[in-house]
Amino acid sequence: MARYELAIGEDGKPEVHVPHRGHRLLENNIYNHGTAFTLEQREALGLAGMLPAAVRTLEHQVQRAYGHVTANEHPLARYLALADLESRNATLYYRLIVEHLEEFLPIVYTPTVGRACQKYSHLFRRGRGLWITPNHRGRIAAVLRNAPYEDVRLICVTDNERILGLGDQGAGGMGIPVGKLDLYVVGAGIHPTQTLPISFDVGTDNQELLDDPFYIGWRGKRLRGEAYDELVEELVTGIQEVFPKALLQWEDFKKANAFDLLDRYDERILSFNDDIQGTAGIALAGVVAASRISGTPMEQQRIVMLGAGAAGIGIARILAAELDQLGLTEEQAKRSVAILDSEGLLVDNRSYRDAYKTKFAWPAAWARDLGLDPDQPIDLLDIVKAMKPTVLIGTSGVPNTFSEAAVREMARHCERPAIFPFSNPNSKAEALPSDLVEWTEGRALIASGSPFDPVAYHDKTIDIAQGNNVYVFPGVGLGALVSGATKIVDSMFAAAAHAIGAQLGDDDVAAGRLYPPLSDLRSISRAVAIEVGQHAMKLGLAPRVDAAEFEARVDAAMWFPEYARIKL
Ligand code: NAD
Repeated sequence: MARYELAIGEDGKPEVHVPHRGHRLLENNIYNHGTAFTLEQREALGLAGMLPAAVRTLEHQVQRAYGHVTANEHPLARYLALADLESRNATLYYRLIVEHLEEFLPIVYTPTVGRACQKYSHLFRRGRGLWITPNHRGRIAAVLRNAPYEDVRLICVTDNERILGLGDQGAGGMGIPVGKLDLYVVGAGIHPTQTLPISFDVGTDNQELLDDPFYIGWRGKRLRGEAYDELVEELVTGIQEVFPKALLQWEDFKKANAFDLLDRYDERILSFNDDIQGTAGIALAGVVAASRISGTPMEQQRIVMLGAGAAGIGIARILAAELDQLGLTEEQAKRSVAILDSEGLLVDNRSYRDAYKTKFAWPAAWARDLGLDPDQPIDLLDIVKAMKPTVLIGTSGVPNTFSEAAVREMARHCERPAIFPFSNPNSKAEALPSDLVEWTEGRALIASGSPFDPVAYHDKTIDIAQGNNVYVFPGVGLGALVSGATKIVDSMFAAAAHAIGAQLGDDDVAAGRLYPPLSDLRSISRAVAIEVGQHAMKLGLAPRVDAAEFEARVDAAMWFPEYARIKL
């Protein structure tokens, strides 16, 4: 593993020692400046004659790269063009994304990344990160030492079993940790050499992949049970040994493993699960914003959730904690949130395979109080009619499950219904935003999981907010790392949600905006990091530091993609 050391020069500017010369330098994406190497640098670094004569600035390169990437109309072609750029010149790649964030986020992340995961074996060019497979049993720490850089602070690992809403994608799931870590770099300024994507490739139960002669993953049915647990254990202890300062983000594990791993390891290693906790943060931020817009206080909201998996239960947990903070009793809080899975409303006279659902199941008597029969499946329309919700959140992964009848019924009782079809990618959304606008006569406050185009309604154009976890996780990670937090807890995601909400001005609220613009991601992540770090200090999970000093540390930790001066 190589050491990458970014020092701050006497003039306060970043400078770096370059360990490579000649073609090895041009082939190293971290140190490469391409045509931006100055003539003096070219002479000193063995590059004379290896580049065309003109010396360009990074700004100029960004313009050129933008033209090159956008010359492709097709999103997947843009994805590949961006991946190629990253492998040649990481600084230029990240700068391009920072400058065109709203345009490229749907390429490097959902929805295009989902397509890239599905076609991964056919598109594969050059790997990023590490694949840990059952072949590495007994020597995972040694494999981790093959990572390119040693000072890793952020690891994102997936076992590929629940990629977005697309299910088991086998080794192709690697697109997700790669994309997520890029968003840490872009959003929170974590240096690329401090990130490490890992595909925990323990096989796939996706028969189509196993039948595909081009499939590049570990060929076999998924490891389960003890063999799986032992390999995860070896991975975690390996990470602790090789990268002791790293935060581990669990990503796109199927629900049972997602909850198990989070509970098993959150005391042992600085870690969180973005599908459970990050989603909760962004959903809470949306509900809090909807409360401000509609003028209905948070504690009076009635919330129906469709989907009781990792995301749904994560949201239910954070809502319960928030309502508790606001002074509601446990019963009041629980009555405010009704959760449905594929069999209908969670009530305690049903039996559940997933134990974590039991905690959120309503006593059957509460359903009866609303005139419902808990001995029969209670569907969305039933509960909407009975409960008259103000908020409807979808994390079912199943399209068209917000029916027209249920949405129209909701809108009859609520002036500004908050409706969040969060399932990804776009094809899995519980309802199309254009339909939601139509069915609610333009009154709905909509946040989708994947980006949707604005909707024209009469003489208005309605922007569709995206409840993107990217508002949350980069700042949470940065705040946890800079504060030296020993543990990541749910309430840090509530702190993040409020920090995001605080970025909305009165004008935004008057205009019905649920989230601040994504183009402000860096300042949002900064605010989230500060709030999360201070919250960690308040909880005694991080050493106390003066507020101004902590803000300065967050600022100093945020790398902005530009070429560091080279120490010649
Ligand atoms: P999951 O598989 O853990 O959970 C899905 C849940 O939906 C299960 O409880 C299942 O019983 C339930 N379900 C399935 N069919 C249903 C139906 N017809 N009606 C009601 N419930 C039904 O998956 P997850 O990790 O919770 O993710 C679910 C979806 O949420 C995915 O599409 C994912 O991409 C999306 N998601 C969005 C965001 C975001 O927008 N910020 C974040 C995380 C996850």
